[in-house]
Amino acid sequence: MAKVNVLSLNPARVNCGIVTGSERSLIIDSGPGPNTARLLAHRAAALSEAANGRPNPIDVVTTHDHWDHCFGNSALAAEGAGTFFASRSFAVDQEASSWIALDALRSDPETHEFARKLPADPADLLVEVTPIESGHSVLDLGDCRVEFHVLGGHSTADVVVRLPDLGVVFTGDLVEEGDPPQAGADAALGDWVRSLETVLSFSEASVFVPGHGVVVDRDFVARQCADIDGYRTMSADAEVALPARAMPGEHDRTFPRECELRLD
Ligand SMILES: [Zn+2]
Repeated sequence: MAKVNVLSLNPARVNCGIVTGSERSLIIDSGPGPNTARLLAHRAAALSEAANGRPNPIDVVTTHDHWDHCFGNSALAAEGAGTFFASRSFAVDQEASSWIALDALRSDPETHEFARKLPADPADLLVEVTPIESGHSVLDLGDCRVEFHVLGGHSTADVVVRLPDLGVVFTGDLVEEGDPPQAGADAALGDWVRSLETVLSFSEASVFVPGHGVVVDRDFVARQCADIDGYRTMSADAEVALPARAMPGEHDRTFPRECELRLD
């Protein structure tokens, strides 16, 4: 059976995924920069060596165009990753959004030091993207089907990664655990609620990997959907302070960390 690993990495405490199939591997989000990307490439190769006796070819999917999820893309390309899937909106906007995000990271005292590790020229962060067509598209990892669904709400286009054979969904930042879901100027709460309703309609799904925080269950996603729906009727459509929710129980919250999902 395919294996699913979640790496929680700094800066930004972002979750990145590695799905190791019998023929191919998929990295879900390249993380905030070259260092996280190289770690992901190294771990993806080691995991497929252990499972299949050889390193798998690696494809990459980007959930959305926020820097903490995609600034490792060009480093992953340099490490030999093949196809970079993303929404059409990401493909069109990545040049402009990289310029804006890099500028913001450099001028923020909290991220200024980290920004020095990024390329000086934002053009060096870009990769050639294969746009996911509207609706959803499918990738075959050998013994594991993957569906990419282009939704929205947290950003202008959020890609959700569904593994229907395993009951797992990577939600990007449509779900965040521990800290409040970030609703910036590019958020649209009505779309966000509809997207979470779509995620909840995946009847086989029982394990949801948020963009940040520990892995959550179906009840958590339903509660966060209700939270956002409540704010939608009370507030303007974007830049609101949404409430944080924590997954009940004991969880490893150290950074960095890697966990393999138990799928039975
Ligand atoms: Zn994020």
